[in-house]
Amino acid sequence: MVHGMVVEDGGATLKEYDEAFLGDGGVVVDVVYSDLNYKDALAVTGRPGVVRTTPLIAGIDLVGTVAETDDPRWSPGDWIVLNGAGLSETKHGGYTTRARIDAKLAVAIPDGLSPESVAALGTAGYTAALSVLRIVSEGVSPGDGPVLVTGATGGVGSIATMLLATAGFEVAASTGRVDRFGDYLSSLGATQIVAREELEGRGKPLQKAQYAGVVDSVGGEVLANAIARTLPNGTVTACGLAGSAALPATVMPFILRGVTLAGIDSVWASLEDRADAWRLLSKGIDPQQLDLMTSRIPLEGVIAAGEQLLTGGLHGRTLVEIS
Ligand code: NDP
Repeated sequence: MVHGMVVEDGGATLKEYDEAFLGDGGVVVDVVYSDLNYKDALAVTGRPGVVRTTPLIAGIDLVGTVAETDDPRWSPGDWIVLNGAGLSETKHGGYTTRARIDAKLAVAIPDGLSPESVAALGTAGYTAALSVLRIVSEGVSPGDGPVLVTGATGGVGSIATMLLATAGFEVAASTGRVDRFGDYLSSLGATQIVAREELEGRGKPLQKAQYAGVVDSVGGEVLANAIARTLPNGTVTACGLAGSAALPATVMPFILRGVTLAGIDSVWASLEDRADAWRLLSKGIDPQQLDLMTSRIPLEGVIAAGEQLLTGGLHGRTLVEIS
């Protein structure tokens, strides 16, 4: 029998099921690791917005070894990672000892990272990498000025801070928890710590321009004020709504400063973009530092950890050990 964390109408529970429940994907994976992201926390605590059909195995990420495959890109025994691509939304996810997936958007573990590190980075790390790649591809370089990272103690924010610092950017890390985590953010490479309150509240449409780029995972007024503080021709990436899904901004920064607002969607990113993001992570992440910011939990612990994540009780990354 296979077991995993299944979301049903009444909530999420650890269950046993037979292989027929896994569906009809062409690649069978013995899952070794997954991780806990904001979306996983919503799914396993029974909140709406992620799981769109039930019953469904939760877990938006999956790292394991190929057991059987009808896809010539893969051979039995290969390590494989799949992030997003509908996992835990419309397809069974990674919180299971065995999975059957469509592996078209899966990538191999990149050189320089262990399967464990890849799982610890997970969707949050890979989204941070997509955000940094976008800022750079829009022409922002370290000499242009600091890059603001919002929600900096979170998964996306922590990894974005590390990647940007390694790439030579000056990083201004914004957090609602300066007292507890200011030193942590400095250890990741942040050179300025910005209190979240400084970015909250309705601000003017154009404020003192100071950031060449922004990696935002918070949304709402924080994002609006970040856009209003972006230097001419700077780029702001928006991937999340940890604070709010609203965007109470004006067009002034776009039409008077040439600011670009770039959306980041990790779920359906192309295979090419995924490979680029994982290559950047393999170069830009120090595995020892990642280890220090990673907590480990068993599959049984994901519901409690999910509650903690949503109530501000976690920081960094949470690795889920499946088998
Ligand atoms: P985490 O929970 O790890 O981090 C979110 C951080 O946001 C927190 O650590 C906190 O940082 C800050 N925050 C939390 N609540 C609030 C609030 N009410 N107001 C302002 N800031 C807040 O989540 P992730 O990093 O995994 O994900 C962040 C967001 O990005 C989520 O909305 C997630 O769904 C989204 N996301 C989107 C993806 C995509 O493909 N578009 C992929 C991955 C994530 P601090 O205390 O330091 O301020």
